[in-house]
Amino acid sequence: NRIHYKEQFMAIERTFSIIKPNAVAQNVIGEIERRFEQAGLTIIAMKMLKLTREEAEGFYAEHKGKPFFAGLIDFMTSGPMIVQVLEGENAIHHNRELMGATDPAKAAPGTIRADFGSHEQVSANAVHGSDSPISAAREIRYFFTEDELFPH
Ligand code: UDP
Repeated sequence: NRIHYKEQFMAIERTFSIIKPNAVAQNVIGEIERRFEQAGLTIIAMKMLKLTREEAEGFYAEHKGKPFFAGLIDFMTSGPMIVQVLEGENAIHHNRELMGATDPAKAAPGTIRADFGSHEQVSANAVHGSDSPISAAREIRYFFTEDELFPH
C-alpha cells in the first residue's frame, strides 16, 4: 500500500565509506566530506587508520583471486585513510551516485571519483562505498563497535 511504499522509498539507511589513501595524501578530505554533508548525508562515525595487509585482505575478501587483488591490497595499505559511517535517506545508493563509477576515467563529471580519483590506477579511486544493505552492515561492523556510532 501507499504507506509501505513511502516508508521503503524514504528509508533512512547507514552506509560504510572510506576516503582512500590517495585522497588523504592529496589533502582533499574536507572537499569530499563537504560533498557528503551538502548532499544531506550525516557523518555518524569516523576515524583515521592505516590498514595491515590482513585487515585489507579481510575487508576485500570477495575479490580474492581477481587479477587486481594484490595491487588493491598494496594500495589500500600504502597510507592512512578515513573510515566512516554515513546516515541519510537511501544512503547506500545516494553515496554510490556521489562517488561515480569504479574507474575514475569512466566516472561521470562532477562525481567524487572523477574529480579526486586517479585516471591511471583504478584502485586509487578516492572513495569506497557499500554496495548493498548486507555489505553495509558487514563493513560497518568490520571497523566500528556499536558505541562508536553517534546517530543524531
Ligand atoms: N578495483 C581495481 N581494479 C579493477 C576493479 C576494481 O583496482 O579492475 C578496485 C577499486 O579500488 C574498487 C575496488 O577494487 O573500488 C573494489 O571493486 P568493486 O568492483 O567492488 O568496485 P566499487 O564497488 O568500489 O565501485
